Amino acid sequence: MARYIGPVCKICRREGEKLFLKGARCLSPKCSIERRSYPPGQHGKETQYKKGRTSDFSTQLREKQKARRIYGVLERQFYRYYSEANRRAGPTGTNLLALLETRLDNVIYRLGLADSRAQARQLVQHAHFDINGVSTNISSYSVRPGDTITVHPTSRNLRYFREIRSYLAERPGAPDWLTLNVSNDGNIEAKLIRLPERLEITLPLNEQLIVEYYSR
Ligand code: SF4
Repeated sequence: MARYIGPVCKICRREGEKLFLKGARCLSPKCSIERRSYPPGQHGKETQYKKGRTSDFSTQLREKQKARRIYGVLERQFYRYYSEANRRAGPTGTNLLALLETRLDNVIYRLGLADSRAQARQLVQHAHFDINGVSTNISSYSVRPGDTITVHPTSRNLRYFREIRSYLAERPGAPDWLTLNVSNDGNIEAKLIRLPERLEITLPLNEQLIVEYYSR
């Protein structure tokens, strides 16, 4: 599946806030938003971030773009997520966020097995994970409640996973909707127990604006 390959920090500067797309760098003084707190482009420094009135359309569009960029999803696929969320029972906005959160790359990121969603995506595409014992390299795979994620047997002894096992204790634990266990033989096993609830998705997103954008 296609993905955005342009400059990443520019996206945060365009949205005017930290979207945490680059892992450890985002928490360091090297973060572009910290160093250049104005929109990208030739006239960015002069225009600064607009503080005045903006149209409803502009607010809705920016919110949709922000969500797409946080999860690394391109427009067509994002619209498919919206259509599926709209089809399901319950609030469309909450359904949309639940669908995005249960993407395999996002689950790997939420488990703390990668520093960013982009890194998680690469790990998945290099087939380092199995779902219910079956190898998969599809980062958009929709993990369902009850699905078990393990590190592929040939990848378990890679230096990355050996190091991750020792870091896991220091990292924030998995959210309540996921479980994560490291067995005595060093295998990492995670399970999605249920779909995340809205309050558990702590992202600076107003999903209602996204729904309004597509309902125009
Ligand atoms: Fe955004 Fe991270 Fe780049 Fe900062 S370092 S601008 S938070 S991607």
